[in-house]
Amino acid sequence: MRLTDFPLKTFKEVPAEAEVISHQLMLRAGLIRRLASGLYTWLPLGLRVLHKVEAIIREEMDRAGALELLMPMVQPAELWRESGRWKEYGPELLRLNDRHQREFCLGPTHEEVITDIARSELRSYRQLPVIYYQIQTKFRDEIRPRFGVMRAREFTMKDAYSFHLDEASLLEGYEKMRVAYERIFTRLQLEFRIVQADPGAIGGNRSEEFHVLAESGEDAIAYCEADGYAANVDTVAIPAVGGPRGEAKTDLELVQTPAVRTIDALSAFLNVEPADCLKTLVVQGTDAPAVALLLCGHHELNRIKAEALESVARPLRMLRATEVQAATGYEPGFLGPKELEIPIVADRAAAVLSDFVCGANQTDYHFRGVNWGRDLPVPATADLRNAVAGDPSPAGGGLLAVKRGIEVGHIFQLGTRYSDAMEATVLNKDGKACAMQMGCYGIGVTRIVAAAIEQNNDDHGIVWPEAIAPFDVVLVPINMDKSYRVKEAADSLYQELQDAGFDVLLDDRPHRPGVKFADADLIGIPHRLVIVEKAWDEGKIEYKARRATDAEMIPVETVTKFLAETRQC
Ligand code: ATP
Ligand code: MG
Repeated sequence: MRLTDFPLKTFKEVPAEAEVISHQLMLRAGLIRRLASGLYTWLPLGLRVLHKVEAIIREEMDRAGALELLMPMVQPAELWRESGRWKEYGPELLRLNDRHQREFCLGPTHEEVITDIARSELRSYRQLPVIYYQIQTKFRDEIRPRFGVMRAREFTMKDAYSFHLDEASLLEGYEKMRVAYERIFTRLQLEFRIVQADPGAIGGNRSEEFHVLAESGEDAIAYCEADGYAANVDTVAIPAVGGPRGEAKTDLELVQTPAVRTIDALSAFLNVEPADCLKTLVVQGTDAPAVALLLCGHHELNRIKAEALESVARPLRMLRATEVQAATGYEPGFLGPKELEIPIVADRAAAVLSDFVCGANQTDYHFRGVNWGRDLPVPATADLRNAVAGDPSPAGGGLLAVKRGIEVGHIFQLGTRYSDAMEATVLNKDGKACAMQMGCYGIGVTRIVAAAIEQNNDDHGIVWPEAIAPFDVVLVPINMDKSYRVKEAADSLYQELQDAGFDVLLDDRPHRPGVKFADADLIGIPHRLVIVEKAWDEGKIEYKARRATDAEMIPVETVTKFLAETRQC
Protein backbone atom coordinates (compact mmCIF):
# COMPACT_ATOMS: atom_id res chain seq x y z
CA MET A 1 0.00 0.00 0.00
CA ARG A 2 1.29 3.44 -0.93
CA LEU A 3 0.51 5.94 1.79
CA THR A 4 -0.38 8.57 -0.81
CA ASP A 5 -3.33 6.30 -1.72
CA PHE A 6 -4.30 5.80 1.91
CA PRO A 7 -6.01 8.58 3.87
CA LEU A 8 -4.14 8.03 7.12
CA LYS A 9 -5.07 10.51 9.83
CA THR A 10 -3.06 10.25 13.03
CA PHE A 11 -3.06 12.38 16.18
CA LYS A 12 -0.33 13.39 18.60
CA GLU A 13 -2.76 14.45 21.30
CA VAL A 14 -4.36 11.91 23.62
CA PRO A 15 -8.12 11.94 22.95
CA ALA A 16 -9.99 13.10 26.04
CA GLU A 17 -12.71 10.48 25.63
CA ALA A 18 -10.28 7.55 25.96
CA GLU A 19 -9.23 6.23 29.38
CA VAL A 20 -7.15 3.17 28.55
CA ILE A 21 -4.04 3.10 26.37
CA SER A 22 -5.46 0.76 23.71
CA HIS A 23 -8.46 3.02 23.14
CA GLN A 24 -6.20 6.08 22.95
CA LEU A 25 -3.81 4.43 20.51
CA MET A 26 -6.56 2.96 18.34
CA LEU A 27 -7.98 6.46 17.89
CA ARG A 28 -4.61 8.16 17.50
CA ALA A 29 -3.34 5.64 14.96
CA GLY A 30 -6.54 5.78 12.92
CA LEU A 31 -7.72 2.20 13.47
CA ILE A 32 -11.24 3.02 14.62
CA ARG A 33 -13.66 5.92 14.87
CA ARG A 34 -16.57 6.29 17.27
CA LEU A 35 -20.03 6.60 15.78
CA ALA A 36 -22.04 6.62 19.01
CA SER A 37 -21.69 5.10 22.49
CA GLY A 38 -20.28 1.57 22.07
CA LEU A 39 -20.46 1.73 18.25
CA TYR A 40 -17.26 1.93 16.20
CA THR A 41 -16.24 2.03 12.56
CA TRP A 42 -13.19 -0.03 11.69
CA LEU A 43 -11.13 2.14 9.36
CA PRO A 44 -9.04 0.43 6.65
CA LEU A 45 -5.93 0.24 8.85
CA GLY A 46 -7.82 -1.30 11.77
CA LEU A 47 -9.70 -3.69 9.54
CA ARG A 48 -6.43 -5.15 8.26
CA VAL A 49 -5.60 -6.15 11.86
CA LEU A 50 -9.07 -7.51 12.49
CA HIS A 51 -8.89 -9.62 9.33
CA LYS A 52 -5.55 -11.09 10.42
CA VAL A 53 -7.03 -12.05 13.78
CA GLU A 54 -10.05 -13.59 12.07
CA ALA A 55 -7.86 -15.54 9.64
CA ILE A 56 -5.94 -17.20 12.49
CA ILE A 57 -9.17 -18.05 14.31
CA ARG A 58 -10.74 -19.46 11.14
CA GLU A 59 -7.69 -21.61 10.36
CA GLU A 60 -7.63 -23.11 13.83
CA MET A 61 -11.39 -23.70 13.95
CA ASP A 62 -11.20 -25.44 10.56
CA ARG A 63 -8.21 -27.47 11.72
CA ALA A 64 -10.24 -28.63 14.74
CA GLY A 65 -12.97 -29.82 12.37
CA ALA A 66 -15.51 -27.10 13.17
CA LEU A 67 -17.89 -26.12 10.36
CA GLU A 68 -18.42 -22.46 9.53
CA LEU A 69 -21.95 -21.14 9.08
CA LEU A 70 -23.52 -17.71 9.35
CA MET A 71 -26.67 -17.02 11.35
CA PRO A 72 -28.83 -13.88 11.22
CA MET A 73 -28.17 -11.13 13.69
CA VAL A 74 -31.89 -10.43 14.09
CA GLN A 75 -33.58 -13.23 15.99
CA PRO A 76 -37.28 -13.92 16.58
CA ALA A 77 -38.60 -13.63 20.16
CA GLU A 78 -40.33 -17.02 19.93
CA LEU A 79 -37.02 -18.87 20.08
CA TRP A 80 -36.00 -16.89 23.16
CA ARG A 81 -39.35 -17.68 24.77
CA GLU A 82 -38.74 -21.38 24.16
CA SER A 83 -35.40 -21.23 25.99
CA GLY A 84 -36.86 -19.03 28.73
CA ARG A 85 -34.31 -16.27 28.11
CA TRP A 86 -36.77 -13.67 26.71
CA LYS A 87 -37.63 -13.04 30.38
CA GLU A 88 -34.26 -13.91 31.93
CA TYR A 89 -31.86 -11.92 29.77
CA GLY A 90 -32.55 -8.41 31.02
CA PRO A 91 -31.76 -5.02 29.47
CA GLU A 92 -28.59 -6.09 27.62
CA LEU A 93 -30.96 -7.69 25.09
CA LEU A 94 -32.03 -5.08 22.54
CA ARG A 95 -35.62 -5.89 21.61
CA LEU A 96 -37.40 -4.54 18.54
CA ASN A 97 -40.62 -4.92 16.60
CA ASP A 98 -41.02 -5.21 12.85
CA ARG A 99 -43.78 -3.47 10.83
CA HIS A 100 -46.20 -6.29 11.74
CA GLN A 101 -45.47 -5.77 15.42
CA ARG A 102 -43.68 -9.11 15.61
CA GLU A 103 -41.03 -9.16 18.32
CA PHE A 104 -37.33 -9.65 17.62
CA CYS A 105 -34.00 -9.03 19.29
CA LEU A 106 -30.48 -8.29 18.13
CA GLY A 107 -28.45 -11.39 18.92
CA PRO A 108 -26.16 -10.95 21.93
CA THR A 109 -25.26 -14.65 21.45
CA HIS A 110 -26.69 -17.49 19.34
CA GLU A 111 -27.55 -20.51 21.52
CA GLU A 112 -31.23 -20.34 20.57
CA VAL A 113 -30.70 -20.02 16.83
CA ILE A 114 -28.06 -22.75 16.67
CA THR A 115 -30.22 -25.11 18.75
CA ASP A 116 -33.05 -24.49 16.30
CA ILE A 117 -30.68 -25.33 13.42
CA ALA A 118 -29.45 -28.44 15.19
CA ARG A 119 -32.93 -29.79 15.91
CA SER A 120 -33.82 -29.56 12.23
CA GLU A 121 -30.49 -30.60 10.68
CA LEU A 122 -29.36 -33.31 13.08
CA ARG A 123 -31.58 -36.37 13.38
CA SER A 124 -29.42 -39.38 14.13
CA TYR A 125 -26.60 -40.15 16.53
CA ARG A 126 -24.60 -41.11 13.43
CA GLN A 127 -24.31 -37.42 12.50
CA LEU A 128 -22.74 -36.52 15.85
CA PRO A 129 -20.55 -34.96 17.07
CA VAL A 130 -20.80 -31.69 15.15
CA ILE A 131 -19.16 -28.34 15.90
CA TYR A 132 -20.57 -25.27 14.14
CA TYR A 133 -18.99 -21.82 14.28
CA GLN A 134 -19.44 -18.35 12.91
CA ILE A 135 -17.59 -15.04 13.02
CA GLN A 136 -20.28 -12.45 13.31
CA THR A 137 -21.59 -9.24 14.80
CA LYS A 138 -23.20 -9.30 18.23
CA PHE A 139 -25.14 -6.58 19.96
CA ARG A 140 -25.33 -6.19 23.74
CA ASP A 141 -26.79 -3.07 25.23
CA GLU A 142 -24.01 -2.89 27.84
CA ILE A 143 -24.86 -0.69 30.82
CA ARG A 144 -21.48 1.04 30.60
CA PRO A 145 -19.83 0.68 27.20
CA ARG A 146 -16.20 1.69 27.70
CA PHE A 147 -12.58 1.40 26.63
CA GLY A 148 -13.47 1.60 22.93
CA VAL A 149 -13.91 -1.79 21.27
CA MET A 150 -12.93 -3.54 24.51
CA ARG A 151 -16.48 -3.25 25.87
CA ALA A 152 -18.56 -2.09 22.97
CA ARG A 153 -22.24 -2.56 22.29
CA GLU A 154 -21.74 -3.86 18.78
CA PHE A 155 -18.75 -6.19 18.44
CA THR A 156 -17.49 -9.19 16.53
CA MET A 157 -17.50 -12.57 18.18
CA LYS A 158 -16.40 -15.97 17.03
CA ASP A 159 -19.00 -18.25 18.54
CA ALA A 160 -18.92 -22.02 18.23
CA TYR A 161 -21.43 -24.61 19.42
CA SER A 162 -20.91 -28.34 19.65
CA PHE A 163 -23.53 -31.13 19.66
CA HIS A 164 -22.99 -34.57 21.12
CA LEU A 165 -24.83 -37.77 21.89
CA ASP A 166 -23.41 -38.13 25.39
CA GLU A 167 -21.28 -36.45 28.03
CA ALA A 168 -18.14 -38.38 27.12
CA SER A 169 -18.33 -36.96 23.61
CA LEU A 170 -19.02 -33.45 24.98
CA LEU A 171 -15.83 -33.71 27.07
CA GLU A 172 -13.87 -34.65 23.96
CA GLY A 173 -15.35 -31.74 21.98
CA TYR A 174 -14.64 -29.33 24.82
CA GLU A 175 -11.03 -30.51 25.01
CA LYS A 176 -10.66 -30.10 21.25
CA MET A 177 -11.88 -26.50 21.44
CA ARG A 178 -9.63 -25.83 24.43
CA VAL A 179 -6.63 -27.00 22.42
CA ALA A 180 -7.76 -24.90 19.42
CA TYR A 181 -8.02 -21.84 21.70
CA GLU A 182 -4.55 -22.42 23.09
CA ARG A 183 -3.23 -22.59 19.52
CA ILE A 184 -5.11 -19.43 18.55
CA PHE A 185 -3.84 -17.26 21.41
CA THR A 186 -0.33 -18.66 21.00
CA ARG A 187 -0.35 -17.84 17.28
CA LEU A 188 -1.69 -14.36 18.09
CA GLN A 189 1.52 -13.98 20.15
CA LEU A 190 -0.32 -12.92 23.28
CA GLU A 191 0.57 -13.75 26.87
CA PHE A 192 -2.52 -15.47 28.24
CA ARG A 193 -3.81 -17.65 31.06
CA ILE A 194 -6.62 -20.19 31.10
CA VAL A 195 -8.68 -19.69 34.24
CA GLN A 196 -11.54 -21.58 35.83
CA ALA A 197 -14.68 -19.53 35.66
CA ASP A 198 -18.10 -19.24 37.14
CA PRO A 199 -20.53 -20.39 34.43
CA GLY A 200 -22.84 -17.54 35.47
CA ALA A 201 -25.96 -16.79 33.45
CA ILE A 202 -25.46 -19.35 30.69
CA GLY A 203 -25.58 -22.17 33.22
CA GLY A 204 -24.12 -25.64 32.85
CA ASN A 205 -21.02 -27.42 33.94
CA ARG A 206 -17.33 -26.85 33.42
CA SER A 207 -16.31 -23.46 32.12
CA GLU A 208 -12.97 -21.77 31.53
CA GLU A 209 -11.96 -18.29 30.44
CA PHE A 210 -8.96 -17.22 28.38
CA HIS A 211 -7.41 -14.02 29.67
CA VAL A 212 -4.79 -11.81 28.07
CA LEU A 213 -2.63 -10.46 30.90
CA ALA A 214 -2.59 -6.65 31.04
CA GLU A 215 -2.65 -4.15 33.88
CA SER A 216 -5.79 -2.47 32.62
CA GLY A 217 -7.74 -5.76 32.65
CA GLU A 218 -11.16 -5.71 34.30
CA ASP A 219 -10.65 -9.09 35.94
CA ALA A 220 -8.22 -10.02 38.67
CA ILE A 221 -6.76 -13.48 38.13
CA ALA A 222 -5.29 -15.53 40.92
CA TYR A 223 -2.74 -18.08 39.78
CA CYS A 224 -0.05 -20.31 41.16
CA GLU A 225 3.05 -20.90 39.00
CA ALA A 226 3.98 -23.97 41.04
CA ASP A 227 0.78 -26.01 40.65
CA GLY A 228 -0.75 -24.43 37.52
CA TYR A 229 -3.94 -23.31 39.28
CA ALA A 230 -5.62 -20.18 37.83
CA ALA A 231 -9.03 -18.68 38.54
CA ASN A 232 -10.83 -15.39 38.75
CA VAL A 233 -10.15 -14.00 42.26
CA ASP A 234 -13.86 -14.02 43.01
CA THR A 235 -14.27 -17.74 42.25
CA VAL A 236 -11.38 -19.05 44.38
CA ALA A 237 -12.50 -21.21 47.30
CA ILE A 238 -9.97 -20.09 49.89
CA PRO A 239 -8.53 -22.97 51.91
CA ALA A 240 -9.12 -22.76 55.68
CA VAL A 241 -6.35 -20.89 57.48
CA GLY A 242 -4.07 -23.32 59.29
CA GLY A 243 -2.97 -22.92 62.92
CA PRO A 244 -4.50 -21.07 65.89
CA ARG A 245 -4.98 -17.33 66.10
CA GLY A 246 -2.18 -15.23 67.54
CA GLU A 247 -1.98 -14.61 71.29
CA ALA A 248 -3.29 -11.39 72.82
CA LYS A 249 -0.37 -9.06 73.54
CA THR A 250 -2.10 -5.77 74.26
CA ASP A 251 -4.95 -4.59 76.43
CA LEU A 252 -8.32 -3.54 75.10
CA GLU A 253 -8.40 0.22 74.72
CA LEU A 254 -11.14 2.66 73.69
CA VAL A 255 -9.72 5.38 71.44
CA GLN A 256 -11.31 8.53 70.17
CA THR A 257 -11.42 8.62 66.33
CA PRO A 258 -13.34 11.75 65.37
CA ALA A 259 -15.11 11.44 61.99
CA VAL A 260 -12.91 8.45 61.05
CA ARG A 261 -15.35 6.24 59.16
CA THR A 262 -13.41 4.22 56.60
CA ILE A 263 -10.69 1.59 56.90
CA ASP A 264 -8.23 3.81 55.00
CA ALA A 265 -8.90 6.77 57.28
CA LEU A 266 -8.71 4.55 60.35
CA SER A 267 -5.45 2.91 59.34
CA ALA A 268 -3.91 6.34 58.63
CA PHE A 269 -5.26 7.88 61.84
CA LEU A 270 -4.08 5.10 64.16
CA ASN A 271 -1.03 4.20 62.06
CA VAL A 272 -2.01 0.53 61.78
CA GLU A 273 -2.21 -1.72 58.71
CA PRO A 274 -5.67 -2.16 57.12
CA ALA A 275 -5.02 -5.90 57.58
CA ASP A 276 -5.14 -5.35 61.38
CA CYS A 277 -8.47 -3.53 61.22
CA LEU A 278 -11.82 -5.28 61.19
CA LYS A 279 -14.43 -4.20 58.67
CA THR A 280 -18.07 -4.63 59.74
CA LEU A 281 -20.53 -4.76 56.83
CA VAL A 282 -24.26 -4.93 57.43
CA VAL A 283 -26.41 -6.75 54.90
CA GLN A 284 -30.05 -7.75 54.73
CA GLY A 285 -30.79 -11.04 56.50
CA THR A 286 -33.18 -13.84 55.63
CA ASP A 287 -34.89 -14.05 59.06
CA ALA A 288 -33.28 -11.17 60.94
CA PRO A 289 -33.51 -7.70 59.34
CA ALA A 290 -29.72 -7.34 59.41
CA VAL A 291 -26.64 -9.58 59.49
CA ALA A 292 -23.09 -8.36 60.16
CA LEU A 293 -20.31 -9.73 57.96
CA LEU A 294 -16.77 -9.23 59.27
CA LEU A 295 -13.68 -9.01 57.10
CA CYS A 296 -10.07 -7.97 57.53
CA GLY A 297 -9.71 -4.36 56.39
CA HIS A 298 -7.74 -5.20 53.23
CA HIS A 299 -10.10 -7.96 52.03
CA GLU A 300 -13.12 -7.60 49.75
CA LEU A 301 -16.50 -9.21 50.32
CA ASN A 302 -17.40 -11.86 47.74
CA ARG A 303 -21.04 -11.55 46.77
CA ILE A 304 -21.52 -15.16 45.70
CA LYS A 305 -19.98 -16.54 48.89
CA ALA A 306 -22.07 -14.18 51.05
CA GLU A 307 -25.23 -15.17 49.23
CA ALA A 308 -24.45 -18.81 49.93
CA LEU A 309 -24.99 -18.18 53.68
CA GLU A 310 -28.44 -19.22 54.85
CA SER A 311 -28.78 -16.19 57.10
CA VAL A 312 -28.10 -13.73 54.26
CA ALA A 313 -30.88 -12.62 51.89
CA ARG A 314 -30.43 -13.09 48.13
CA PRO A 315 -29.68 -11.01 46.19
CA LEU A 316 -27.10 -9.58 48.53
CA ARG A 317 -28.02 -6.08 49.68
CA MET A 318 -25.99 -3.73 51.85
CA LEU A 319 -28.22 -1.84 54.25
CA ARG A 320 -28.44 1.92 53.94
CA ALA A 321 -27.13 4.07 56.79
CA THR A 322 -30.61 4.66 58.22
CA GLU A 323 -31.41 0.94 58.10
CA VAL A 324 -28.14 0.08 59.83
CA GLN A 325 -28.92 2.60 62.54
CA ALA A 326 -32.45 1.18 62.97
CA ALA A 327 -31.26 -2.46 63.09
CA THR A 328 -28.24 -2.01 65.35
CA GLY A 329 -28.83 1.26 67.18
CA TYR A 330 -25.39 2.50 66.08
CA GLU A 331 -23.94 4.70 63.40
CA PRO A 332 -22.22 3.00 60.44
CA GLY A 333 -18.52 3.85 60.32
CA PHE A 334 -18.13 3.08 64.03
CA LEU A 335 -19.65 -0.41 64.08
CA GLY A 336 -17.90 -3.41 65.56
CA PRO A 337 -18.83 -6.90 66.74
CA LYS A 338 -18.45 -6.23 70.49
CA GLU A 339 -21.94 -6.15 71.96
CA LEU A 340 -23.51 -5.97 68.51
CA GLU A 341 -26.91 -7.65 68.79
CA ILE A 342 -27.47 -8.93 65.30
CA PRO A 343 -26.27 -12.24 63.81
CA ILE A 344 -22.54 -12.11 63.02
CA VAL A 345 -20.50 -14.15 60.53
CA ALA A 346 -16.76 -13.54 60.24
CA ASP A 347 -14.54 -14.40 57.32
CA ARG A 348 -12.04 -17.08 58.38
CA ALA A 349 -9.15 -14.64 58.16
CA ALA A 350 -10.99 -12.08 60.31
CA ALA A 351 -11.68 -14.75 62.90
CA VAL A 352 -7.96 -15.43 63.46
CA LEU A 353 -6.95 -11.78 63.94
CA SER A 354 -5.47 -10.78 67.28
CA ASP A 355 -4.87 -7.36 68.83
CA PHE A 356 -7.04 -5.83 66.12
CA VAL A 357 -8.86 -2.53 65.69
CA CYS A 358 -12.65 -2.32 65.24
CA GLY A 359 -15.56 0.06 65.72
CA ALA A 360 -16.73 0.58 69.32
CA ASN A 361 -20.44 1.04 68.51
CA GLN A 362 -20.14 4.59 69.68
CA THR A 363 -19.89 7.59 67.38
CA ASP A 364 -16.27 8.80 67.00
CA TYR A 365 -14.77 5.82 68.89
CA HIS A 366 -12.94 2.61 67.98
CA PHE A 367 -11.35 -0.13 70.06
CA ARG A 368 -7.78 -1.23 69.64
CA GLY A 369 -6.09 -4.30 71.08
CA VAL A 370 -9.26 -6.38 70.58
CA ASN A 371 -9.01 -10.17 70.95
CA TRP A 372 -11.56 -12.89 70.21
CA GLY A 373 -12.38 -15.03 73.24
CA ARG A 374 -10.98 -12.50 75.71
CA ASP A 375 -13.00 -9.39 74.82
CA LEU A 376 -15.89 -10.86 72.81
CA PRO A 377 -17.16 -14.30 71.84
CA VAL A 378 -15.46 -16.24 69.02
CA PRO A 379 -17.73 -15.69 65.97
CA ALA A 380 -19.26 -18.09 63.48
CA THR A 381 -16.98 -18.25 60.43
CA ALA A 382 -17.23 -18.80 56.68
CA ASP A 383 -15.23 -18.14 53.51
CA LEU A 384 -16.58 -14.70 52.58
CA ARG A 385 -13.91 -12.93 50.59
CA ASN A 386 -12.07 -12.68 47.28
CA ALA A 387 -8.62 -14.22 47.12
CA VAL A 388 -5.58 -11.95 47.38
CA ALA A 389 -1.89 -12.42 46.52
CA GLY A 390 -0.22 -14.60 49.13
CA ASP A 391 -3.27 -16.80 49.83
CA PRO A 392 -2.57 -20.53 49.59
CA SER A 393 -3.46 -22.11 46.22
CA PRO A 394 -6.55 -24.36 46.42
CA ALA A 395 -4.56 -26.88 44.39
CA GLY A 396 -2.13 -27.08 47.30
CA GLY A 397 1.12 -26.42 45.42
CA GLY A 398 2.07 -22.98 46.72
CA LEU A 399 0.93 -19.40 47.11
CA LEU A 400 -1.28 -17.40 44.76
CA ALA A 401 -0.12 -14.39 42.78
CA VAL A 402 -2.64 -11.95 41.33
CA LYS A 403 -2.47 -10.28 37.91
CA ARG A 404 -5.08 -8.45 35.93
CA GLY A 405 -6.50 -9.96 32.78
CA ILE A 406 -8.78 -9.16 29.86
CA GLU A 407 -11.25 -11.91 29.03
CA VAL A 408 -10.85 -12.72 25.35
CA GLY A 409 -12.38 -16.18 25.24
CA HIS A 410 -14.80 -18.35 27.17
CA ILE A 411 -15.61 -22.03 26.80
CA PHE A 412 -18.58 -23.77 28.47
CA GLN A 413 -20.08 -27.19 28.78
CA LEU A 414 -23.77 -26.41 28.51
CA GLY A 415 -25.10 -29.95 28.82
CA THR A 416 -28.78 -30.14 27.88
CA ARG A 417 -29.82 -26.66 29.10
CA TYR A 418 -30.98 -25.59 25.62
CA SER A 419 -31.65 -28.95 23.98
CA ASP A 420 -34.09 -29.88 26.78
CA ALA A 421 -35.91 -26.55 26.66
CA MET A 422 -36.09 -26.52 22.87
CA GLU A 423 -36.47 -30.28 22.32
CA ALA A 424 -33.37 -30.72 20.24
CA THR A 425 -33.10 -34.49 20.11
CA VAL A 426 -31.49 -37.17 17.97
CA LEU A 427 -32.37 -40.84 17.74
CA ASN A 428 -29.83 -43.05 19.48
CA LYS A 429 -28.77 -46.61 18.52
CA ASP A 430 -32.00 -48.01 19.92
CA GLY A 431 -34.18 -45.54 18.03
CA LYS A 432 -34.92 -43.55 21.18
CA ALA A 433 -34.99 -39.70 21.10
CA CYS A 434 -32.26 -38.16 23.33
CA ALA A 435 -31.57 -34.49 24.07
CA MET A 436 -28.20 -33.55 22.59
CA GLN A 437 -25.33 -32.54 24.88
CA MET A 438 -24.04 -29.08 23.96
CA GLY A 439 -20.93 -26.99 24.41
CA CYS A 440 -20.40 -23.34 23.49
CA TYR A 441 -17.18 -21.50 22.82
CA GLY A 442 -16.77 -17.75 22.33
CA ILE A 443 -13.91 -15.46 21.35
CA GLY A 444 -14.12 -11.66 21.47
CA VAL A 445 -12.55 -10.99 18.07
CA THR A 446 -12.68 -7.19 18.19
CA ARG A 447 -11.69 -7.17 21.87
CA ILE A 448 -8.52 -9.13 20.97
CA VAL A 449 -7.25 -6.18 18.93
CA ALA A 450 -7.57 -3.86 21.94
CA ALA A 451 -6.12 -6.49 24.31
CA ALA A 452 -3.11 -7.00 22.03
CA ILE A 453 -2.40 -3.26 22.22
CA GLU A 454 -2.82 -3.18 26.01
CA GLN A 455 -0.11 -5.81 26.19
CA ASN A 456 2.14 -4.37 23.47
CA ASN A 457 2.79 -0.63 23.46
CA ASP A 458 5.43 1.93 24.44
CA ASP A 459 5.77 5.72 24.63
CA HIS A 460 5.78 5.99 20.84
CA GLY A 461 2.68 3.93 20.14
CA ILE A 462 1.54 0.43 19.30
CA VAL A 463 4.05 -2.44 19.06
CA TRP A 464 2.07 -5.08 17.18
CA PRO A 465 2.69 -8.76 17.63
CA GLU A 466 3.91 -9.60 14.13
CA ALA A 467 1.11 -12.07 13.51
CA ILE A 468 -1.53 -9.34 13.46
CA ALA A 469 0.34 -6.18 12.41
CA PRO A 470 -1.56 -4.27 9.69
CA PHE A 471 1.66 -4.25 7.61
CA ASP A 472 4.83 -6.28 8.10
CA VAL A 473 7.24 -3.64 6.81
CA VAL A 474 7.21 0.11 6.37
CA LEU A 475 9.46 1.52 3.68
CA VAL A 476 10.56 5.11 4.28
CA PRO A 477 12.38 6.79 1.36
CA ILE A 478 14.11 10.04 2.34
CA ASN A 479 13.77 12.97 -0.09
CA MET A 480 12.02 10.85 -2.65
CA ASP A 481 10.55 13.94 -4.28
CA LYS A 482 14.04 15.34 -4.86
CA SER A 483 16.00 12.22 -5.77
CA TYR A 484 15.00 10.13 -8.75
CA ARG A 485 17.31 7.35 -7.59
CA VAL A 486 15.60 7.15 -4.19
CA LYS A 487 12.23 6.98 -5.90
CA GLU A 488 13.44 4.22 -8.20
CA ALA A 489 14.95 2.32 -5.26
CA ALA A 490 11.72 2.66 -3.26
CA ASP A 491 9.57 1.45 -6.14
CA SER A 492 11.74 -1.57 -6.87
CA LEU A 493 12.12 -2.61 -3.22
CA TYR A 494 8.39 -2.12 -2.66
CA GLN A 495 7.72 -4.54 -5.51
CA GLU A 496 10.40 -7.01 -4.44
CA LEU A 497 9.13 -7.24 -0.86
CA GLN A 498 5.54 -7.66 -1.97
CA ASP A 499 6.54 -10.40 -4.37
CA ALA A 500 8.23 -12.13 -1.43
CA GLY A 501 4.89 -12.15 0.41
CA PHE A 502 5.29 -9.19 2.78
CA ASP A 503 2.54 -6.67 3.48
CA VAL A 504 4.43 -3.47 2.73
CA LEU A 505 3.53 0.11 3.49
CA LEU A 506 5.43 2.60 1.32
CA ASP A 507 5.49 6.02 2.93
CA ASP A 508 5.71 8.04 -0.28
CA ARG A 509 4.22 11.16 1.30
CA PRO A 510 6.17 14.39 0.86
CA HIS A 511 6.61 14.69 4.64
CA ARG A 512 9.66 15.24 6.82
CA PRO A 513 11.41 12.01 7.92
CA GLY A 514 10.55 12.76 11.56
CA VAL A 515 6.83 12.79 10.80
CA LYS A 516 7.07 9.55 8.87
CA PHE A 517 9.03 7.82 11.64
CA ALA A 518 6.57 9.01 14.27
CA ASP A 519 3.62 7.65 12.28
CA ALA A 520 5.37 4.34 11.62
CA ASP A 521 6.04 3.97 15.35
CA LEU A 522 2.51 5.05 16.33
CA ILE A 523 0.82 2.53 14.05
CA GLY A 524 3.33 -0.05 15.23
CA ILE A 525 4.75 -1.61 12.05
CA PRO A 526 7.21 -4.34 13.20
CA HIS A 527 9.99 -3.64 10.63
CA ARG A 528 11.20 -0.32 9.22
CA LEU A 529 13.48 0.18 6.23
CA VAL A 530 14.84 3.65 5.44
CA ILE A 531 16.24 4.45 2.00
CA VAL A 532 18.87 7.21 2.03
CA GLU A 533 20.50 8.05 -1.30
CA LYS A 534 24.11 7.98 -0.15
CA ALA A 535 23.83 4.66 1.67
CA TRP A 536 21.84 3.14 -1.17
CA ASP A 537 24.64 4.05 -3.58
CA GLU A 538 26.95 2.11 -1.27
CA GLY A 539 24.59 -0.85 -1.39
CA LYS A 540 23.22 -0.30 2.16
CA ILE A 541 19.81 0.31 3.67
CA GLU A 542 18.87 1.24 7.24
CA TYR A 543 16.83 -1.30 9.19
CA LYS A 544 15.15 -0.93 12.57
CA ALA A 545 12.84 -3.33 14.38
CA ARG A 546 9.92 -1.58 16.13
CA ARG A 547 11.01 -3.11 19.44
CA ALA A 548 14.71 -2.20 19.01
CA THR A 549 16.26 1.06 20.19
CA ASP A 550 18.93 1.30 17.49
CA ALA A 551 18.94 1.05 13.72
CA GLU A 552 21.50 -0.96 11.76
CA MET A 553 22.78 -0.89 8.19
CA ILE A 554 22.23 -4.00 6.08
CA PRO A 555 23.22 -4.86 2.49
CA VAL A 556 20.48 -4.03 0.00
CA GLU A 557 20.79 -7.29 -1.90
CA THR A 558 20.04 -9.41 1.19
CA VAL A 559 17.18 -7.34 2.58
CA THR A 560 14.35 -9.72 1.62
CA LYS A 561 16.21 -12.72 2.98
CA PHE A 562 17.09 -10.77 6.12
CA LEU A 563 13.44 -9.86 6.76
CA ALA A 564 12.25 -13.40 6.08
CA GLU A 565 14.72 -14.65 8.68
CA THR A 566 13.96 -11.91 11.21
CA ARG A 567 10.20 -12.25 10.91
CA GLN A 568 8.57 -13.95 13.89
CA CYS A 569 5.45 -15.48 12.41
P1 ATP B 1 -17.74 -9.97 30.03
O1 ATP B 1 -17.61 -10.63 31.36
O2 ATP B 1 -16.49 -9.27 29.58
O3 ATP B 1 -18.97 -9.13 29.90
P2 ATP B 1 -19.15 -12.16 28.91
O4 ATP B 1 -18.99 -13.23 29.93
O5 ATP B 1 -20.40 -11.39 28.86
O6 ATP B 1 -17.91 -11.15 28.98
P3 ATP B 1 -19.36 -14.08 26.76
O7 ATP B 1 -20.82 -14.06 26.73
O8 ATP B 1 -18.67 -15.28 27.27
O9 ATP B 1 -18.80 -12.77 27.48
O10 ATP B 1 -18.82 -13.71 25.30
C1 ATP B 1 -17.68 -14.30 24.68
C2 ATP B 1 -16.58 -13.28 24.47
O11 ATP B 1 -17.06 -12.11 23.82
C3 ATP B 1 -15.98 -12.75 25.76
O12 ATP B 1 -14.98 -13.63 26.23
C4 ATP B 1 -15.40 -11.42 25.33
O13 ATP B 1 -14.10 -11.60 24.81
C5 ATP B 1 -16.31 -10.98 24.22
N1 ATP B 1 -17.21 -9.91 24.66
C6 ATP B 1 -18.25 -9.99 25.53
N2 ATP B 1 -18.86 -8.81 25.70
C7 ATP B 1 -18.18 -7.93 24.90
C8 ATP B 1 -18.33 -6.53 24.64
N3 ATP B 1 -19.30 -5.82 25.21
N4 ATP B 1 -17.46 -5.95 23.77
C9 ATP B 1 -16.48 -6.67 23.18
N5 ATP B 1 -16.30 -7.98 23.39
C10 ATP B 1 -17.13 -8.62 24.23
MG1 MG C 1 -20.98 -9.49 29.55
